[in-house]
Amino acid sequence: MMESDTRETTLPLLGPDELPPVELVNIDGGGSAVLVCDHASNSVPRRLGTLGLDAGRLADHIGWDPGAADVARRLSAHLDAPLVLSGYSRLVIDCNRPLRSAESIAERSAGVPIPGNRGLSPEEREARIAALFRPYHDAIARLLDGRARRPTLLLSIHSFTPVLNGPLRPWHIGVCYGHDRRLAALLLGALARSGEFAVGDNQPYPIEDDIDYTIPVHGEGRGFPSAMIEIRQDGIHTAAGAAAWAARLAEAYRLIEAEALRLIGSSFTA
Ligand SMILES: [Zn+2]
Repeated sequence: MMESDTRETTLPLLGPDELPPVELVNIDGGGSAVLVCDHASNSVPRRLGTLGLDAGRLADHIGWDPGAADVARRLSAHLDAPLVLSGYSRLVIDCNRPLRSAESIAERSAGVPIPGNRGLSPEEREARIAALFRPYHDAIARLLDGRARRPTLLLSIHSFTPVLNGPLRPWHIGVCYGHDRRLAALLLGALARSGEFAVGDNQPYPIEDDIDYTIPVHGEGRGFPSAMIEIRQDGIHTAAGAAAWAARLAEAYRLIEAEALRLIGSSFTA
């Protein structure tokens, strides 16, 4: 059979002793929030070396979302929320990009060439999809399938670099959305209440179907109210900073949870 022939000729990307492609935390959590962290890790499968980059580059924001996994784990504990984290660097394959996107396996990121991503064969691309992208999204899909009758609000947790091609980005945190602004609107109101922080409304970037994958597919695609949280990295580069933002997010979530749960089942198309 054609299909099994293809599989047999594709070497597995991950060795048996390597980190799994997806990590599940508190998967039976009883809260209504489900958390996902697409850019949790800057690990690279051993077979790919360092993608031709030096270690400093991989530790930088182009390799992952520094601090995001720390915030997500703490928020999961606050809200008794299941959490799904990706196990490998976005530079190997970006779990929040459609496979058709040029940024799925980026040849450049924020102006930095990624030598290990140049001129990949279809088999090399498929090995990354099969080993990393699919297991991550299959885990999210299985979790959400299992919650079909439970009220669910989906939050993806990201972090953004304070400076990208210009001046300091002014927002401490952003709440981002695409077609469905319902949950984001509630969270924006709750986060802005203290007046202490600059809260970006669909900043630093909106969710777009051609650029984003996780919220369009698992949130909007299933009709779960959903939003992407983007926290500026200088606020969460220490454990204390991550703890403070996790606590603020938990407080904001609790303020709006009852109202957000009433959105479930209603249409979000205007
Ligand atoms: Zn991210």
